[in-house]
Amino acid sequence: MKNNFDKIFAKIEKGKRISFKEGTLLFKDGSLAEMGFYAQKARYRLHRKNVVTYIIDRNINYTNICQTKCSFCAFYRNDKDKDAYTLKIEEVLEKIDETVQLGGSGILLQGGHNPRIPFSYYIELLNAIRKNFPQIHIHAFSPPEIVFFAKNFKMSIIEVLKKLKKAGLMSIPGGGAEILSTKTRSKIAPRKATAQEWLEVMEIAHKLKIPTTATMMFGTCESDEEIVYHLDLIRNLQDKTNGFTAFIPWTYQKGGKAKIEAEKTPYTKYLKVLAFSRIYLDNIKNIQASWLTQGLDIASVALHFGANDVGSVMIEENVVREAGCFNMTNEHELRKMILNSGFIPQKRTTLYKIIKT
Ligand code: SF4
Repeated sequence: MKNNFDKIFAKIEKGKRISFKEGTLLFKDGSLAEMGFYAQKARYRLHRKNVVTYIIDRNINYTNICQTKCSFCAFYRNDKDKDAYTLKIEEVLEKIDETVQLGGSGILLQGGHNPRIPFSYYIELLNAIRKNFPQIHIHAFSPPEIVFFAKNFKMSIIEVLKKLKKAGLMSIPGGGAEILSTKTRSKIAPRKATAQEWLEVMEIAHKLKIPTTATMMFGTCESDEEIVYHLDLIRNLQDKTNGFTAFIPWTYQKGGKAKIEAEKTPYTKYLKVLAFSRIYLDNIKNIQASWLTQGLDIASVALHFGANDVGSVMIEENVVREAGCFNMTNEHELRKMILNSGFIPQKRTTLYKIIKT
C-alpha cells in the first residue's frame, strides 16, 4: 500500500496526471494531511502567487416553483404554495440595481423548473439586464434548467443556448451536477437532467464559447468511487473543451423540505474532497472553497487544502438558506479571513479576472 502511494505522490510532485485507478486508491485510503500537502503543491503549480480571490455578486432565484421536486432540495415550492413566487422582470432589475450599488460585478441567475414561464420571459429578462446594466456579468441557467427549456419549449439544447447567448447570457453555472452517477442520481434527483444531459449541455456550451463552472454536491448516499467517477467525467470533458473555469464542491445541507436522510458531512471529509479535487482536476485552474456551507473557519482551513478562491460575498442566497444553513459574511470579513489565513485577498470577476482596487 505504502509503495503505491509513494508512486502516486511522486507523480503529483512532478505535475503528472494520476489515473482513475490511482485516484480511487488515494481518495479511499490516503490520509487527510498528505492529501492537503499534495493539494497545495498542485495549487502552487497553477497559482504561483499567494493570492486568494473572491467576487461580489448576487444569487437571484427568479422562481421557486419547480416541477422536478428533487428529494434533497429544500428550496422548491408547488405553484399553489403560499410562498411560491416568480419574480417580475422589474423585480430582478431592482435587485441588480442594489447589487451595483454594493459594488457587485455580476449576478447568478437560477430558478426552479416552472412550466408556467414562457421562453419569452428568459429572453426579455436577459435583454433587459443587458440594456440596463451593461457592466454586469450574467452567469445564468444551470444545465438542468437548459434541459428543461429544451424539453418544455421543444427545442434542441444548441438552439436554446444560442438564443440565450444572443440575448445576453455570458456564462453558465455548474449547478445541478450533484453526483454525475446514475446510481445516486436516481435516488436523489430522479426527474432531473441525467448525468449525460448535464455533460452534453456543458460540452455544447463550451463549443459555443460559453464558459461554465463545474460543481459537485456530496454527502447524500454516494460512494467514494462515485465521487472519483464524477471528477473523472469532468476532467475528461475539460480535456476535450477547456471550458470549465472552476470546480466547486459543496456538501448536502439537510433541513427544511430536504428529504434525504444523511448524517452531516464531517469537515474532514469536505477538506479531503476539496484537496483531492485539486490534485485530480489538473486541467481546471480554480478550486473554490464553500464558506457558505462550511462556515468561515473551515473555509480558512480549506485555503491550505488546495482552494485558491472563496467564491462570492453573496448579497443574496436562498437555496441553502431554505435548508437551514445561515452562514453569512461581508467583503470586510471575507478579506480579513483570507489575510488571517496567510493569503492576499483580491476581488475578481465571474471569469476570474482580477479587479484592480
Ligand atoms: S434542486 Fe433545482 S431542479 Fe431540483 S427541485 Fe430544487 S429547484 Fe427543482
